[in-house]
Amino acid sequence: MIRKYDPLSSKPFKSALKVQEGIEQPSAISKDALSRLRQKKTPELTAAEIVEGVLAGNITMLSKAITLIESTRPEHQQLAQQVLEICLPHSGDSIRIGFTGVPGVGKSTLIEALGKYLTRRKFKLAVLAIDPSSYRTKGSILGDKTRMEELSVDPNAFIRPSPSAGTLGGVARKTWETIILCEAAGFNIIFVETVGVGQSEVLVHSMVDFFLLLMLAGAGDELQGIKRGIMEMADAVIINKADGDNIYKAGLAKAEYQKALNLFPIPSSGWQPRVTTCSAREKSGIKELWKIIDDYHTFSKNNGYFYGKRTEQSLARMHYALKEQLFSDFYNNKKIENKIRAIESSIARNAKSSYVAARELIELYYSSFHEDKIEPKS
Ligand code: GDP
Repeated sequence: MIRKYDPLSSKPFKSALKVQEGIEQPSAISKDALSRLRQKKTPELTAAEIVEGVLAGNITMLSKAITLIESTRPEHQQLAQQVLEICLPHSGDSIRIGFTGVPGVGKSTLIEALGKYLTRRKFKLAVLAIDPSSYRTKGSILGDKTRMEELSVDPNAFIRPSPSAGTLGGVARKTWETIILCEAAGFNIIFVETVGVGQSEVLVHSMVDFFLLLMLAGAGDELQGIKRGIMEMADAVIINKADGDNIYKAGLAKAEYQKALNLFPIPSSGWQPRVTTCSAREKSGIKELWKIIDDYHTFSKNNGYFYGKRTEQSLARMHYALKEQLFSDFYNNKKIENKIRAIESSIARNAKSSYVAARELIELYYSSFHEDKIEPKS
C-alpha cells in the first residue's frame, strides 16, 4: 500500500520505500503555512448555516453557536449576535428552572434524578450552570464529569458547563443567550444550576420561571448559608437526603420551612411557595417535585404571571445592558479619563461635594460630544 504524504500530519512519513530510522524528514511546507492550513481545515460557517443547524436540533451546531457566544473575539461576537437575532423568535417555549443550595446539598444528584425522570417522559432537557464567583472547575457542573453520568450520555439531554468567570453581567448575558439557543434547538426544559453563594442566585432568579431552593434537614439556615432574601425568592423548597435515618428529621424540617414560608407575604405571582422532601440518591420524591413545578407552570400561565415575568426579565436585561454600556462609554471617554483623578482628590480633600463632582463630570462628558461636531478652523 502506498500512503500519501500528509503535510498536516505530525507523524513521521513512512512509505513502502524503506526510510532509514533516525533521519528526520524535512518538512515540505513552512511552519507558518502549516498552521494557516490547519486553521483552514474547519471552514468558517455563516450565520445562516449555524441557525439552520441549531433549528434542526443539531447538537454540534448548537455547541458551536454557544462557543461563539462565549468567545471574546469581535468577529465571533458579531456572528453570535446575528445567530441569536434569528433564533430569538424560535425560543421561549420551555420551562426554565433554577436550582440553588449550598455545595454538597445534592444539586447535581437531584438534577440527574429529575432530569432522567423528564427525559424518560420525552422532554428535551438542557442543563446550564452559573458560577461567576471563581475560576474553579472542581465542583462546578461537569468540572467533574462523573457527577451527571447518566444525563451526560442521554440523547435527550444537553449539558453545558458554566461560562468561564467574567463580570457578573457578562456571565448573565452568556447564560441567557445560551438559554435562547437551547430553546431554539428544541429543548423544552432548561435547568440553570448555581453554586449557591453570593450574587449568583439573584442572577439565576432573573432568568428562570421557577426557582428551587435545596436544603438539608438538621443544619441551621445560617449553616447552610441561606439568607432570608433567597428564601423569599424560592417557589419551592426541597429538603434533600430524606433517606435512611434522615427521613424523620426531613419531615420535621419540611413542616418548619412551610411554616416559615407561610409567614412571608404572598409573592406577586399569587403562588404560595411549597416545601417537599426527596432523596435524590434514592430517586424518591422526584415525581412529587415535578408535580409542584408542573402545578406552578399551569397556575402562572393561567393567571398570566408567567408571561408578565418573562417580559419583565427582558426589560430588566435591556436596562441593565444600557447601564453597562453607558458606564463603560463614560469611563472610557478621554476627557473623563483626564479629569477624574483630580475630581476624586478634591472630594477626598472635602473641597467638593460628591454630587457637585458627579454633575461636573456628566457635563464634561456631554460637552465632549458638542466639541466633536465643531469644525476645526482652517
Ligand atoms: P452539589 O454540590 O449540591 O451538586 O451536591 P452533589 O449532588 O454533588 O452531592 C453531594 C454529596 O451528597 C454526594 O456525595 C452525593 O452522593 C450526596 N447526595 C446527594 N443527594 C443525596 C441524597 O438524596 N441522599 C444522600 N444520602 N446523599 C446524597
